[in-house]
Amino acid sequence: MNAPVLPRRIVIAGGGTAGWMAAAAIARTLGRVATVTLVVSDAIGTIGVGESTIPPLVAYNRLLGINEAEFMRATRATFKLGIQFENWKNVGEQYFHSFGGTGQDHWSAGFQHFWMEGRARGHEAPYGEYCLELKAAEGAKFAHLPSEGWQWRIPLQHRQGNGIVYASAHLEREAALDRLLSSVAGERLVEPNFIRYQTGARRLQWSHNCVAVGLSGGFMEPLESTSIHLIQRAVLRILRMLPAGEISPRDVAEFNEQQATDMVQIRDFLILHYKVTDRRDSAFWRQCANMTVPATLEQKIELFRDTGRVFRKNEELFAENSWIQVMMGQGIMPRSWHPVAAKLNDEELAGFLKGIRDNVRRQVDSLPLHDRYIEQYCGERPAAVSSRPPIALSA
Ligand SMILES: Cc1cc2nc3c(=O)[nH]c(=O)nc-3n(C[C@H](O)[C@H](O)[C@H](O)COP(=O)(O)OP(=O)(O)OC[C@H]3O[C@@H](n4cnc5c(N)ncnc54)[C@H](O)[C@@H]3O)c2cc1C
Repeated sequence: MNAPVLPRRIVIAGGGTAGWMAAAAIARTLGRVATVTLVVSDAIGTIGVGESTIPPLVAYNRLLGINEAEFMRATRATFKLGIQFENWKNVGEQYFHSFGGTGQDHWSAGFQHFWMEGRARGHEAPYGEYCLELKAAEGAKFAHLPSEGWQWRIPLQHRQGNGIVYASAHLEREAALDRLLSSVAGERLVEPNFIRYQTGARRLQWSHNCVAVGLSGGFMEPLESTSIHLIQRAVLRILRMLPAGEISPRDVAEFNEQQATDMVQIRDFLILHYKVTDRRDSAFWRQCANMTVPATLEQKIELFRDTGRVFRKNEELFAENSWIQVMMGQGIMPRSWHPVAAKLNDEELAGFLKGIRDNVRRQVDSLPLHDRYIEQYCGERPAAVSSRPPIALSA
């Protein structure tokens, strides 16, 4: 039996998002017992995009001991309650993928089954009426969708981040630029930057004593803002599998398998947005609708279509509610749902649904406007309120 030995020297190559996030977490965890060296190239800059993320960053920053209000003031950040998808199901239609939960589940069946039962019995309130985050999303993020790709708009405190993601096989570079610039209002602060990327990930993210984190490990695309989150997951995984002396090939195999599972699950969720759509108005969308999707995604889509069921596997990032919102938002209505919902009589079902809607409305009414809260919590002047995040973000 060998006594564990802490690593003494850790070198991080690259001083971008992944490098600094890794350095901060490793230094915080190992403290003075290890030297952490960050190597930054003067010749190669950072990619310079990637400003939108998802709620687990709150936990990461807490782990680092970062005060949220100070962090948000320094980065001029805003709270993100979800993503508005415009024109994804079809031109002129929109839906909101909110973070957090919707309605109230039964142990045997998610809330969607009760909502479907209610719908069949004439309760017309949309699924989103049962979601606090969605109803509270006054300062939301929007993604506008042109016909050969999609555009994002991320409102920060001091400026808006804008970009267009397009397939070069379907749209010329100049046309993409025109489309982006014609939809951006206000003063232009930086010149547009073209970034060409190939979607994919390294099969082995950990090899020998080297781990690829961030873009060096792979990239899918900015839709659903998953890359910073993947950095944070990889860093936490490295810390959980910190070698106790010699590197165990079992650790390496486990790490690589967990990373690959994350990538595949996120890949499926991203492809869902392109596949499940009624849009046929351009060659790009027709190609998306006709493409073959991975078997894992097909099973998920068809299971939901048949039964209304979604299962979250192996610490999957996107929970049931995310899948449900995107699938229903883009046009899949389940053909059947769990029979437990039929157990409630009309009065009980109406009371159950109304109770949730009323509760959401009451909570939303009591929340301050997003802009006012930001100003108070992390605007230019020092914070005058407690450092707790707003209730709408806590689910
Ligand atoms: C269009 C677009 C939009 C995006 N939007 C989002 C988003 O909203 N949310 C999100 O989470 N992610 C987004 N991403 C992904 C985002 O870019 C990453 O999450 C994040 O910036 C990656 O950090 P990184 O450290 O891997 O790369 P970087 O921040 O680019 O850092 C790379 C570092 O490595 C160094 N380096 C690179 N090559 C070499 C070399 N050969 N030798 C030595 N040093 C080198 C560089 O100098 C730099 O210091 C987006 C990506 C794209 C392309």
